[in-house]
Parts: sequence; C-alpha cells; structure tokens
Amino acid sequence: MAPKVAVLDDYQNISPRHFEHLTSRVEFSYFPDTLNPRLADQQQQLIERLRPFEIIVSQRERTPFSKDTLSALPNLKLLLTTGTRNLAIDSQYCAERGIPVGGTQTRPAGLNSTVQHTWALILNAARHVARDDAAIKRGEWQGSLGMTLAGKTLGLLGLGKLGAQVGRIAVQGFGLEVIAWSTNLTQEKADEQARAMGLPAGSFRAVSDKLAFFREADVVSVHSVLSERSRGIVGREELAAMKQTALLVNTSRGPLVDEAALLETLNSGAIAGAALDVFEPEPLPADSPWRTTAWGKDGRSEVLLTPHTGYADEQIHGKPNPTMSTTTTTTTTTSDQPPAPPPTHPTLIHVHRSPIPFASGAYSLVSLPAGSLFCKITGTTPAQKAYTSVQTGRDAHIELNSDLVYCNHSCAPTVDFDMHRMEVRVVADRDLQAGDPLTFFYPQSEWEMDQPFQCTCGAGARCRGVIDGAKKMEAGVLREYWLNPHIEEMISEREREEAGSV
Ligand SMILES: [Zn+2]
Repeated sequence: MAPKVAVLDDYQNISPRHFEHLTSRVEFSYFPDTLNPRLADQQQQLIERLRPFEIIVSQRERTPFSKDTLSALPNLKLLLTTGTRNLAIDSQYCAERGIPVGGTQTRPAGLNSTVQHTWALILNAARHVARDDAAIKRGEWQGSLGMTLAGKTLGLLGLGKLGAQVGRIAVQGFGLEVIAWSTNLTQEKADEQARAMGLPAGSFRAVSDKLAFFREADVVSVHSVLSERSRGIVGREELAAMKQTALLVNTSRGPLVDEAALLETLNSGAIAGAALDVFEPEPLPADSPWRTTAWGKDGRSEVLLTPHTGYADEQIHGKPNPTMSTTTTTTTTTSDQPPAPPPTHPTLIHVHRSPIPFASGAYSLVSLPAGSLFCKITGTTPAQKAYTSVQTGRDAHIELNSDLVYCNHSCAPTVDFDMHRMEVRVVADRDLQAGDPLTFFYPQSEWEMDQPFQCTCGAGARCRGVIDGAKKMEAGVLREYWLNPHIEEMISEREREEAGSV
C-alpha cells in the first residue's frame, strides 16, 4: 500500500509539482488551511485530519506539533519540516517515539532573502512608501515627510549572520551608524562579525546595556533566534526606552516582541512606527488587532505589515502553481560555457564555478553544529603532489575526484579535512550555516605546498599571509588548528631536531 503523506500549510500551492513524479508510489493529501492546535477544538480537528497519515510535511512554525498532538497520531512514522530548525516541533518526544524529524535547507549563496526583506521594510517605513501609495490611489497627495537614514543609528538586536548582513548594508549603503546588543555580545565578537562582512573593526559597536541600546537606536531591527530565553526579549520596558521618532522592525519571529506591549506603544503613538513580517499566531486571525486601517491616524503610529514572506523567495520555493498544471523543470545552460559536470554532493555542496582562475568555490547547502561530520571522503585515487591533491600521510597524496576539490583555503576555516579517518568535519569551534563557504586550513594536511600563495581569505588578523605548507609555519600557529596526525608527527620531529641541534 502506498504510504500516505499529508502536506500542511502550503499557502502558495508550490509543492504539488515537486511531488508529481512520486504520485504513482506515494499518496499525497494537501491541507493549505492552517488549524491552530492551541485552541482545543482546532487541535481535535487537526488530530482527526492527520490520524491516517504515516508522513507529515510541515512548514516551519506554521502548525506546531506538541507532544499532545503527536501522541494522538499513532500512524506517524516520519515528520518533515522546511528549514533545519523548527522549534514548534517537540523533537524530544519524536526521538522517544522513534519518529525521525527531517529538515531541508538549500539557500543559494549570496544575500539572504530575509536580509533583503528587512531592508524593504526599513526603507518602506522610513519613506512611507505603502502609506503614500495608498493615499495617492485614494486621490490624495503628500503626508508627513520621510526619515533620512544617513547619520542615524541602526540598532541590531542580535548580531548573527542575518544581523551582520543587515549591518553591512547599513554601513555601506546608507551611512548609518550601527550598534548591536544581544546577551553576551562583546566588542570583540562585534568586530569579528564586522570583519567577516569585509568591514573594519569598530563598524558595529556593541552596547552592553540593553536599555541604553533601545534609547540610542533610531531604527531597531530584531535578528534573534526564538527560544524560551528570548521570548519577549523586546518588552514593555525596552519599548518605553525607544525614541518617539524611532522605528521597530521585526523579520525574525513574532514572540520575540511582547505583542500586547507593542500594540499599546503603537496605539499611543509612543514611537514613530513598526514594520512587522512575523506574528503569533500565523496566519493572523481575521479579527487580529493588527488588521485595521486606523494606523497612522489620531495619534497612532504608522504600521507596515507583510505576511511572513521574508524567509522565502521564488528561487528557493519555486513559482506559485495555482493551476497545478504539469510543468517540467528544465536546466538551461548558456552556450558560451561548457555544461558543468553533475554535482557529486548535490544535497551538501553548491559549487560556484568561475571562469577566473582560483575564483571558484564550494558553499554549504546545510547547517550543522560545530564538530559534526559533514561528509565521508570517498572515490579518491592515489596521486602525485599537485595543487589539486591532498596529503594523506608522510609521503602519500590523493586526488579527491569530487566537488570537495572546490573547498578553498581559509585561515578562519569552516571545515577540517581529516585525511586519516577520511572525513570532512565542521570545525570544532564554530557551527556551519547553510550558505557558508566550505573552506579548510591547507597546512592541516599539507607539509609542503606545490604552489605557495599569498592568502586573501579575509580573516583579518587571523590571516597568516603567505601559505606555504606546515613545514614553513610556527608550531604555535599550526596548533591553533586541528591537524592531521602526519602533520603533528612531522612538527614534533622538527621540534626534536631543532632542540637537538642547539
Ligand atoms: Zn588567510
């Protein structure tokens, strides 16, 4: 019997064409109307609806799966979600029941869509684009004038990957000052993030006092991960500290901001406005207090709303398919470039191919915690030392024969190449994020380099300059990295020789 799959909350009806080729073997049912299991009657409807299914495909944080709901689904064998992190799933309970929870993440390298959406909201709110557009269409003309961003201060609540990308555009594109706050953020970490964005240290200023951060910012943009600790991280006190001319932008998660306090703040006009892409619950109920045209009138603040669309774009999710017609996807290759060979790690590695020598690179399609296995190294063949080969022992080299060959050197690498266990692992001190370049520290495997080079890895003070194999580097520097046993051995040998020759 064909397994039964329930696909939930696909509002744009994007998924059917992607599952088309499986319909002879798998029975798909689509439920685009979201039920909210926080309400007892809807939870019962949800359980009735999902009881027959062995596989559930959920959309990140649309329908939550608590232990209560999951324990009423005896047939469930596999729970899938979009994204890699879905806090709305009780994954501990799934683990106890032996239900695997699977996720996806295949963001293309380059500017993240949430970052782009954050800027769409900041600019729109600062320049009253949506408000004035509606006014013109009603037959009116100018309202109040917009805010000029240059010289103002952008406050980033959270300085992770997304926050830092928003900050880079603020500095380079609009001449904004950038300050940042998060629990435990130090100036050192802020400088590290600035350098990772190609900006000088000091471009992002860490503010240690949370309320001082809210007092100082002209635009506050929220880029925190939602957890029990960060729930309500923007509360009454923080909103009260904001300038009356300031804007609040939230593209992260609804519950990070205390909704009741924000509604009160905006209804009393205590800040200039808010631009929100995220809510709790989603979709917004029909009677939600956000759904009113009274914003901006009678002393209320301006409010700009989008329906949680920042995370997605057509590139990732495909074009909406309202007719459910059968469309076949074709890959086009431009005539002036030879077709690329098929990828060897299609779910793990995106290869960016450049016609410029040494400018190609590999990017991760997955997010993994520090120290975890990225992939096994397979399909290698013995080789002579060359610029494409990797050293596996004192006198042994191999050719990788896979897309791993596009992993470039960096002095602040994202992965380690363990040529003894034949594994690529995420470095021990930093998580790997989807979209990160896959880079390793060449001297961790190479004693001598076939082609020494001037490093341009952009790791700031951590960059070691000319990279010419472990043989030419100080042991102290090398030991800041994970090293292959053959390199360890040869360093120790060198040290013994140096000690003996004194
Ligand atoms: Zn470097």
